Amino acid sequence: MYWDQLTSPQVDALDRNIPVILPVSATEQHGAHLPLATDRLIGEHFCRQLNAQLSGQVLILPSVGIGCSEHHKDFAGSLSVQHQTFLQQLSDIADCVLGYGFKNILILNSHGGNQAIGQSFVEIYGYRHPQLNLAIATWWRIAAEALQELNESGPGGAGHAGEFETSLMLLIAPDLVQLDQIQPKANVPTLEWAEGDMLTGPRVGLYRRMKEMTPIGVYGDPSAGTVEKGKKITDIVVQALKQVLLDMSQLSQ
Ligand SMILES: [Zn+2]
Repeated sequence: MYWDQLTSPQVDALDRNIPVILPVSATEQHGAHLPLATDRLIGEHFCRQLNAQLSGQVLILPSVGIGCSEHHKDFAGSLSVQHQTFLQQLSDIADCVLGYGFKNILILNSHGGNQAIGQSFVEIYGYRHPQLNLAIATWWRIAAEALQELNESGPGGAGHAGEFETSLMLLIAPDLVQLDQIQPKANVPTLEWAEGDMLTGPRVGLYRRMKEMTPIGVYGDPSAGTVEKGKKITDIVVQALKQVLLDMSQLSQ
């Protein structure tokens, strides 16, 4: 169920143990071949699958579609809010959901720049509201081992706008993928301990703006993206998310 498609009395009639998903994403550059909405469309795609498979057992909030993307602003079109703003927005939304008595909130994140501040939110807000089950899942972390088996482009290939995001977008919104704009991998090497991608994060978090990581705004290898892989990624991620949601609703009973 979608929160904003119900009436107020319908929301009021719901079992408060139902898990509530808050999708958080970004509006930012994804190179020359993917649209600015990529992260939001991917997050909403997983939500649609969850809604179809868990009908009536999950409640999906409207997306927070602008996240922490300062490091992308060298590329036109990227929108960003400050970390403090993002934290405040999540807190205000959670206050509403908690205020109506819901007991389980899963933040579903589809943007790298939201990971650290999202985790901070869970720690700050969770500590202050012990009656709430609060969790954050970032889609490429939730089943990283299984996703690793789909990786064909090797280390550094499944990064921003790379193999995995391109596969998902070919599945979700092929009309928005500019196939003729796909360029060869252009990752700028850095110190060995700071190398990483979505699947194998770096051992040390060295700050680099996106333009320093890649002159074309793509970190990884989009040419390895396929619709088939997009379907497999979807199955793996949705299966893992389903388990988390079902487990969360058990926690509060
Ligand atoms: Zn992305």
